[in-house]
Order: sequence, then structure tokens, then C-alpha cells
Amino acid sequence: MIIVLKPSTEPEQIQHIVEMIEKVGLRTHISAGELQTIIGVIGDKTKLANYPIASISCVESVVHVSKPYKLASRDFHPDDTIIDVNGAKIGGGNLWVIAGPCSIESEDQMRTVAKFVKEAGANLLRGGAYKPRTSPYSFQGMGEEGLKILQKIGKEFGMPTVTEVMDTADVELVAKYADVIQIGTRNAQNFALLKQVGKTKRPVVLKRGMAQTIEEWLMSAEYVMSEGNLDVILCERGIRTFENAYRNTLDVLAIPVLKERTHLPVIIDPSHASGVWQYVIPMALAGIVSGADGVMVEAHHDPEKAMSDGAQSLKPKKFNLLMSELRKIAPVVGKGKNLS
Ligand code: PEP
Ligand code: MN
Repeated sequence: MIIVLKPSTEPEQIQHIVEMIEKVGLRTHISAGELQTIIGVIGDKTKLANYPIASISCVESVVHVSKPYKLASRDFHPDDTIIDVNGAKIGGGNLWVIAGPCSIESEDQMRTVAKFVKEAGANLLRGGAYKPRTSPYSFQGMGEEGLKILQKIGKEFGMPTVTEVMDTADVELVAKYADVIQIGTRNAQNFALLKQVGKTKRPVVLKRGMAQTIEEWLMSAEYVMSEGNLDVILCERGIRTFENAYRNTLDVLAIPVLKERTHLPVIIDPSHASGVWQYVIPMALAGIVSGADGVMVEAHHDPEKAMSDGAQSLKPKKFNLLMSELRKIAPVVGKGKNLS
């Protein structure tokens, strides 16, 4: 249920309504938009049966949200959410480029990659320290040592960092070192993990589960948000279909659908969908043209020697090409004011 307040509502009146709702054991989230303030009510709304909220003078309307996700819904927050990561603002016409290797392999490797992606104009640095590998015998990531390297190199180049967490036991540690926490496709419905990252104050990149419907994906976002962390960035990275000419099918149509249903920023990961570097640039552009707020791309100076996902990683020259193509395309769809 959401309570839409009249524009002139005073803070004390909002407080009064919030107290009334919380007294019966429900939770509230306040969304202060440019024109209107909305109170989202979470929990069993029948507990409010004896409270005539709609007749309170400052209440404009009470809307019963029939969608299974509430906080993630555009009904709750009509304006686009803009998420601030150390000054980098995702959404609102900006175009974020998150780039870096699949895995953190060494300090030298991270410095080399960070240098070329930063010079080309990337905003954030990615790199995995805990890797969700299909085989238990493949490289599993450097763990905490990798997190330290990522943090050090991120600071060196003035780039906020993004890294994946796979285990509830590691959430605190990852939140200590990284600026943004990533939930990978394989954990998109690991509800214990979603709740745990929801308890942190770090923005979350939530990849789409490779067999998740859009509604299920939004429910995953709701798990994070219902714990108090509203800073969720949705990342389309390709889904499993019958097509096997590439790794996964990048669902660009999900972007305008999400933009209609949710206020959360949406980014696109063309690397994991393509599986090879050749398709990464056209898919990144397709994502931006379709309304995405940014891209996450894997890059490596020596992909043949990469510990994971070398085949889909862009080398410096191709990464530069991606950036110059983005600079050309983004203004056409009113994006990328921030691109240097
Ligand atoms: C990654 O970003 O390196 C990764 C493993 O992504 P996904 O979860 O989308 O496969
Ligand atoms: Mn990868």
C-alpha cells in the first residue's frame, strides 16, 4: 500500500502518519519526490483496517499496489532513482561505464587494466575476487587479497569499485573494501544473500538471473530493498534461450519494460551475454539506445592469459573504440552528459 500526500504536507504530519503505521507493527519507507511525498507501507495492511488513513487531511490518495514488488515499483517512486557512488551519479541522463577484468589476478594486472580503461573514459572499476565458476577446478578468485588490490587500484585511479559477493559470510568483508556490491546471475535468487546485502549501505548491482522473468528479478530487488537498502542497480546480462550461437541472449527489450515498471537504474552487461569480444560493442550500443543508464564491460590487456572470460574481454584498442562509439550514440538518446 502506498500513501500519496498532498504537496503542502508538513514534516510533523508525515511523522504522525508514520508513527501510527509503525505502532501496529508495519514498516514504512518515505519517498520524497520533487512534487510529492509518498509513504510506502510494508507488511500486512489489514492491520490498518481500523485506521481511516484516506480521510486524514494531508492524504491525497491511498493506492493499493497489486504488484508483488512494492518498493521497486514505479508506483512507489514515480521519479527515476539516481544513485550516488562517491559522486558518480547513475541515472538522470548520465551514462556510467563500469569496466575491468573478469577476475582480479594481481596488482600489476589491475593497474594495467585500470590505467587503460580510465584513460579511455570509464567511470568505475570492476574485478571479481570471488568467482562463481561452473567448474570447482577453475580459478576461484583471490578472495580478500583481491579485494585489497581492487581497493588500492581504485583509489590510485580515483575510480569507485564494483565486485561480486557470493556468500552471506563475506558480505561484511566485501562491503568494507568495495564501493558497490555485485550479485551475480547465479545468486540472483539466493534470498539469504540478497537480504544480507540489503543490510549494508553499499549500492548493489543486481544481475538478472539467467532464467529469471522480469517480475522475479524485481522481486529479488525487493528482497534487497525491504531490508532498508534502496540503492539497487539492475543489470541485464543475458538469459538462457535455445540459441547457442553466443553465450546468452541479451534481452534488450527488458530495458524499456523495466523503465516502465521500476524507478531503479538499469545497466547492460554485453560481455557475459556475448561470450566473445566481437559482439560486445554492438550490444553495448543496443543497450544504451534502448534506454540503459550504463554498461558493464570486461576488459583485459592480455586476454589470452586471463584467468577467466578472456574471450569476451576487450583489449585497449577495442575498449577505446567502444568509448568513442558510446560518445557518438549517447547524445542521440539524450544520455551521457557526464562522459569525458
Ligand atoms: C561477472 O561479472 O564476472 C560474472 C560472473 O557475471 P554473471 O554473474 O553475469 O555471469
Ligand atoms: Mn566474467
